[in-house]
Amino acid sequence: MQLSHRITHLTGGGSDGWEVFYRARQMKADGIPVTELTIGEHDIGTDPSILAAMNAAAVGGHTGYAMVPGIDTLRDTVAARVQAQSGVPTTRHNVLITPGGQSALFAAHNATCNAGDTALFIDPYYATYPGTIRGVGAVPVAVQAHADNAFQPRAADIAGVASKGAASLLVNSPNNPTGVVYSRETLEGIAEVCKTYDLWLISDEVYDTQVWEGEHISPRALPDMAERTLVVGSMSKSHAMTGSRCGWIVGPEEVIEHLINLATHTTYGVPGFIQDAADFALNAGDELEKEVAAPFERRRALARDLLANQNTVGLVPAQGAMYLMLDMRATGLSGEEFANMLLDTHKIAVMPGESFGQAAHGHIRVAMTIPDDQFLAALKTLCDMAAEISNKRAAE
Ligand code: PMP
Repeated sequence: MQLSHRITHLTGGGSDGWEVFYRARQMKADGIPVTELTIGEHDIGTDPSILAAMNAAAVGGHTGYAMVPGIDTLRDTVAARVQAQSGVPTTRHNVLITPGGQSALFAAHNATCNAGDTALFIDPYYATYPGTIRGVGAVPVAVQAHADNAFQPRAADIAGVASKGAASLLVNSPNNPTGVVYSRETLEGIAEVCKTYDLWLISDEVYDTQVWEGEHISPRALPDMAERTLVVGSMSKSHAMTGSRCGWIVGPEEVIEHLINLATHTTYGVPGFIQDAADFALNAGDELEKEVAAPFERRRALARDLLANQNTVGLVPAQGAMYLMLDMRATGLSGEEFANMLLDTHKIAVMPGESFGQAAHGHIRVAMTIPDDQFLAALKTLCDMAAEISNKRAAE
């Protein structure tokens, strides 16, 4: 008996660039204290008021099968939220509730790509993207966004690849791993490419509440884009509900109808008490969201002050999300080499830029997910080590 090619090749084989992360986790398991600035998990839990709503819903009996597309109240709330943000008329019929953004990404590619189709995505990228695309039998093809363009993708680069034939393009703003928020110009360029080459646009907007500079623009709101855009959203980052697994896809009604079929035959929906809690959270007002986002904005400001006083480590304009992308090229090391050295020497774990593709070579990603004082101390150690390496290099 043989396993399918699709499942055995899901991750593409070879190194996934996450060795530093696995090593840090092993050190922790072995009892070695490691300062972890690796993954996108808040250092706070889900707000007690949301948990109380979840508990009340479960105790109140919302524990059976929930409606597969999502409960009406939550679909209405998500529709109203998206409409308010983007100005695009949106109803519950444009919304499918999914078990997290990850499942929404899989469903969106399932809806738009046939087996063997090319599905484009931007490098640097959130680590699961290529595997999610392979999971639906499509072929992931990366288009690089470059450090010299502050990691804003160039429309001409996307067009160059799209012109050879592709079914979809996946973009993510605010961006993980770079923290970059795509400008209007970038998004308008992307929209034009999608229209010219008849691509579906899958817009991963799970960090839409974490914007520190500029504005979040959903490409669904650009002219003639609503009919070809599927927006992926999630409660994970906006409300520190990563473990609750609740997200959504917003798109044209016809696509949502097909996606409901897909959900019926795969996930069978999201637990009712989780959806009730999400509905409560989304209706709890801006304050709660701001509270969840505030630590990242604060730490970003701390980091900017610290980094302004040295000249070895470069900061990619950190406009959103819970990460900083740092340019370590002045050390002469790859992101991976620097991250390994930092872990061995100072027990500080960061993600090499190379974990997110080729474009962030020589960079590292720092998650701003530990208390301010520890975060600042770790960043200072990181900068000192970088300066030491670069000074030594200059002296050679
Ligand atoms: N997209 C991006 C860019 C992410 O960083 C993540 C999680 N780290 C997800 C999607 C998936 O999030 P979730 O499934 O928790 O909603």
